[in-house]
Amino acid sequence: MNKIGPFAEVIVALNTRRTDRVFHYAVPDEFQDQVTIGSRVIVPFGGRRLTGYVTGFGYPDSTVKVKEIAGVIDAEPVFTTELLELARWMAENYICSTAEALQRIISPRFLVKGSREVKRVYSALPKDKSTEELSSIAGNSKQSAALKRALACPGLTRKELAAAAEVSTSVVNALIKKGLLTVSAMKISRHAVQVDLDNVETKKLTLNADQENALAQAAGAIRRGAFKTFLLHGVTGSGKTEVYLQAIAVALEEGRQAVTLVPEIALTPQMIELFRARFGAQVAVLHSALPGGERYDEWQRIKEGGAPVVLGTRSAVFAPLTRPGLFVIDEEHESSYKQDDHLRYHAREIALKRAQLAGATVLLGSATPSLESRIKTAVGGPYQLLKLNDRVDGRPLPPVRVVDLRREVKEGNGGIFSRTLIASINRRLESQEQVLLFLNRRGFSTFVICRECGLVLKCPRCDISLTYHRDGRLRCHYCNHQVRSPELCPKCGAHNIRLFGAGTQKVEAEAVQFFPGARILRMDSDSTARKGSHTQIINAFQKRQADILIGTQMIAKGLDFPGVTLVGVINADTALHMPDFRAAERTFQLLTQVAGRAGRGSLPGEVLIQTYNPEHYSIVAAAAHDCDRFFLSEMPVRRSLGYPPFSHLARLLFTHEDEEVVKRSAALAKDTLKKILSSEAQGISILGPAPAALSKIKDRYRWQLVLKASRRNLLRDVIKEFLSGLERERAVFKLAVNVDINPQGML
Ligand code: ADP
Ligand code: ZN
Repeated sequence: MNKIGPFAEVIVALNTRRTDRVFHYAVPDEFQDQVTIGSRVIVPFGGRRLTGYVTGFGYPDSTVKVKEIAGVIDAEPVFTTELLELARWMAENYICSTAEALQRIISPRFLVKGSREVKRVYSALPKDKSTEELSSIAGNSKQSAALKRALACPGLTRKELAAAAEVSTSVVNALIKKGLLTVSAMKISRHAVQVDLDNVETKKLTLNADQENALAQAAGAIRRGAFKTFLLHGVTGSGKTEVYLQAIAVALEEGRQAVTLVPEIALTPQMIELFRARFGAQVAVLHSALPGGERYDEWQRIKEGGAPVVLGTRSAVFAPLTRPGLFVIDEEHESSYKQDDHLRYHAREIALKRAQLAGATVLLGSATPSLESRIKTAVGGPYQLLKLNDRVDGRPLPPVRVVDLRREVKEGNGGIFSRTLIASINRRLESQEQVLLFLNRRGFSTFVICRECGLVLKCPRCDISLTYHRDGRLRCHYCNHQVRSPELCPKCGAHNIRLFGAGTQKVEAEAVQFFPGARILRMDSDSTARKGSHTQIINAFQKRQADILIGTQMIAKGLDFPGVTLVGVINADTALHMPDFRAAERTFQLLTQVAGRAGRGSLPGEVLIQTYNPEHYSIVAAAAHDCDRFFLSEMPVRRSLGYPPFSHLARLLFTHEDEEVVKRSAALAKDTLKKILSSEAQGISILGPAPAALSKIKDRYRWQLVLKASRRNLLRDVIKEFLSGLERERAVFKLAVNVDINPQGML
């Protein structure tokens, strides 16, 4: 345990963020065996008792009076030196404290909702007590029932025990008070799972030439054990998953472990079954919706080496593996890999860092790779590109037709459905095939469009579409440029400016009128608010209990409906005009995903995209299933405006109940930043302050500054200096500041 010096070096989890000092504590004799690097301990600190993380051993300055560690929380260390290194990297790069990062890393195990620990209840009595003895020991029949349960099922939570014994939690609490039950956050191993590498339950598929090549490259890197990243670019249905599975098998052969991340929406029972069928009990599933107890067990199994194959969503990237050899990130372009509150990490970045520390291979997979990853596959770049060019079954990608809504309007149809779409839907209904109608109306406010010429009003400085506000003004959410919403189109002069705001509910209402005989279902976050309704809708549609399914991006990804022969995109422009520099990229990705839903059965499918911008490159490229075309069109735009991947952004978000306070603080912050900039760094620009796109959430006003820099380190240094200045001025500067490095969205 390389204890150099007798004192434990402890990072204390202070509430004031970003304070990262190491304090020395003496280790009392009783804890000598338990306290090692990676231990979580309780330490006295300024009159309080706080959680601390042991990161080393050494000597304090002789002048300091050293206190003693007051307790050890877990029976075993909870992080490895590799994860400690990762935490330090996170602290640097996401501008938080190492304690916060460690908390985040181990949280899948311990911190269930709102940082409560998973506390488990055990009987303090020996197992062989008879029922009579228990009754006499316990105060009443309820208490004895709870005691009996605790003996039979050790390690339940208080709530679980109460439910199992059919008593209230106050009964359990009374027993704890009496000392008949003990509460512990220590581990117990409920599963004793054997690892059996030979017992592979389904056979590998015979790979086609493209898959074979991709696997050979990845396998070579895994066997070499040096850090290497691949971008596996394959059209939908090209068999990426099979490549992942066989690469994972290679990692296992090498005695190493593998983590596979999928987006939340893709972690379906089918996906889990696919992994279980291939790797059996070696698979651990980690995702945030698992109940605390199950998550604890899976975490424990991974840590003990019983589950070398981890499948999960974003936070599974922190899985406590000792020798990870492979990180797979499916749909690597998905923005849900970015944690969007609290500690705003990106799972792809974490995987890359872990792989670098561990000498592992990273396999990023997508049909529509992010520009950030794509550009790194350029000649001489750090990633290697692997391509799967065709669908496995040889079925062609569906033909896509683009419908020009401007012409519809000119010819007198201002409704949601173009005549082409109506005709197509009717044809499908007649031949009893199914229709998917997609409208990505997660938007919060509307954009403004000229229905004659298709112009969408944009900010002259940022090239971001302006958002309509209730006071009748249009604002840029990056730099706060504003204008009054014009009556006439500034481009063509027509008197036909409209707010665009139809959502899925409106589509449903109109569909009912246009297609009176059709059975219609709707799937969006409103219609799936009830638990289980999501699956219900999918099942009903799969069983052909409905003809038309209308939905948001919930229906765009991963779903397989063989009966669908027509996919209609109601309005491709909703994503295109989000106030976000990634709007074109998101549009292209979304349209490609949606198009992939058509013609998956034996009947050929078709896709109809309605838009006011039929010549926009993101739509043209999606209609042609042409990723390269999109890439080549979008890159120059990003370059000329200095957006990622040609720069790094940071968003500083200020929130407060009082709008004036937020406004003034944001302005003050800008002045402070300007001073820092003039004294040191060049190559950073500040946009704003401006109200955030969501300018008020839960009674708090939100303003933001956006920083743009050529290098990430530069950005980091400036923000760090700014924040430490802020810490000193706490009294004057009484509001929350949230820092997001390379945000995925800025709502
Ligand atoms: P992707 O993830 O690239 O969209 P999938 O991995 O879902 O594609 O593969 C599509 C289908 O092709 C799956 O049903 C899969 O079982 C099948 N498949 C993949 N590789 C092969 C192969 N080499 N031979 C036969 N079928 C395959
Ligand atoms: Zn602007």
